[in-house]
Amino acid sequence: MSFQVFGIPVTQGVAIGRAVLVASSRVDVAHYLVPEDAVAGEVTRCLQACEQVGAELQALRDALPADAPPELDALLDVHVMLVRDPAFTGGACQWIEERRYNAEWALSAQLDALGRQFDDMEDDYLRERKSDLEQVVARILESLAPKQEPDSQIVSPRDFGGDDPLLLVAADVSPADLMGFRQGVFQGFITDTGGRTSHTAIVARSMGIPAVVGTREASRLIRQDDWVVIDGDLGLIVVDPSPIVLEEYRFKQRQSEVERARLARLRDKPAVTLDGAHIEMLANIELPADASAAVSAGAEGVGLFRTEFLFMNRGDQLPSEEEQFEAYRFAVESLKGRPLTIRTIDIGADKPLDRPSEARHESVLNPALGLRAIRWSLSEPGMFRQQLRAILRAAELGPVRLLIPMVGHWREMEMVQEALLAARLQLGLPEHPKLEVGVMIEVPAAAICLGSLLPWIDFVSIGTNDLIQYTLAIDRADQAVGHLYDPWHPAVLHLVAKVIAEANAAGKGVSICGEMAGDPAFTSLLLGLGLRSFSMHPAQLNIVKQAILRADAKRLAPIAQAVIEAQDPRAAALQARLLS
Ligand code: PEP
Ligand code: MG
Repeated sequence: MSFQVFGIPVTQGVAIGRAVLVASSRVDVAHYLVPEDAVAGEVTRCLQACEQVGAELQALRDALPADAPPELDALLDVHVMLVRDPAFTGGACQWIEERRYNAEWALSAQLDALGRQFDDMEDDYLRERKSDLEQVVARILESLAPKQEPDSQIVSPRDFGGDDPLLLVAADVSPADLMGFRQGVFQGFITDTGGRTSHTAIVARSMGIPAVVGTREASRLIRQDDWVVIDGDLGLIVVDPSPIVLEEYRFKQRQSEVERARLARLRDKPAVTLDGAHIEMLANIELPADASAAVSAGAEGVGLFRTEFLFMNRGDQLPSEEEQFEAYRFAVESLKGRPLTIRTIDIGADKPLDRPSEARHESVLNPALGLRAIRWSLSEPGMFRQQLRAILRAAELGPVRLLIPMVGHWREMEMVQEALLAARLQLGLPEHPKLEVGVMIEVPAAAICLGSLLPWIDFVSIGTNDLIQYTLAIDRADQAVGHLYDPWHPAVLHLVAKVIAEANAAGKGVSICGEMAGDPAFTSLLLGLGLRSFSMHPAQLNIVKQAILRADAKRLAPIAQAVIEAQDPRAAALQARLLS
């Protein structure tokens, strides 16, 4: 039966394919696909873990004192039965053999499948056995730790067991897991959680595939292998579409391909407004290898390299100075003289490190307000020094700029400058040529007190994703308040306008690297406010460039001021025909 699910659109376009469910269990596991020649080993790893836990539980049961409550014995008996039940172990092995899931993913997928069967049971006692199964699986997963990291990725649906395009459906996927899928296994992506600018959504956008997040219950409603349409323009998901609906979407899919091909012709055209202002078009990247893709997409350089992705999914094995240097060197060389803006690690909130010692930071109630980004770096001086040294060394090879995330007070920049000087002295590098240092404006305090930051920096980059989150007190990753996450809010626009004006007046470079820069609905407004540098996901470059080529920046200046003063800036922008 066909039905629809609504969510928050993240990436435009249409995707049609079969659903692949990433288990929605509460157990947090790594999800990746094992190479064909590793399947047998992965099955053995899974079975051995089940056997080990079965033996442990049996030993516990055998060692129960004679006066132990009989319920305890019965409970352990159930657990032993569950872990040895062929429906469970056989099912998990099938996920590995047929889908090439890693053992942890297979176990949680099987937990999900059996959990649904338990949910449907009439008998209360049997229904409640689901929590026993969850406990058993948690124990097996623990015995599988330390996690095995992916050593290769499968790159086509055929390798994955068929020709049909595949769409990823999950309750939630961490940005780190999603990075593992970037090489093209999935053509669309749906999650229950997340907002438009959650980091998972940003990674999905960097994959350039239609995506819808914040659907609340798609992963519960959609079954494995269901045919699904993702309408990334509307945030709509059609499950089991009728032949007519399917044909309509196939038509829409062909049309967006034609439109993409038309926009691609703008790639090598300089971004110059009708009145002759040259606009810098930069790219946001997550991995060093993205740098050459950014150049191919027409970027003039990189305005934001999110280095934290080098640190995620690494357990305690964080990258050394040497490994980081190699990554930055690779990006510098790929850019062939174009600027590379390296942001220091922005870890925390929805981008946790998975090293065990990090657990002490995870207990905070409001991770987005916790030890994130530069706060984390300053609390780990050894790690920070290593990253600064690697960046300084890379800066010897090409035009590198340093960007500091989530600064709230000029004292943090004073500490950064001290750490930078110490790293420079350690390396025996002269102070000139000087590495340009920039600050991200993501915290309202930084926007309001920009004047106090300017003496410490050479340029600013406005991180609108976090600036909106912190100005409006809306968790950007929480779909429950996703409808309140409003880039058109007058408070946000006032802060953006203030930062652009003050940075321009002080002769400091100013750019936007948040998602607002890649949204063509904002291009005219931002040009009118005086912005001349945009950094965005490479897939957005052409559509934003199209808006720039049609704009007259001088004429837009007074209109933009009137728009941000309006009670309802979006309506005012619409009336002034600023929205393309
Ligand atoms: C931002 O906050 O706008 C930004 C670019 O940083 P990130 O999305 O990585 O938090
Ligand atoms: Mg940010």
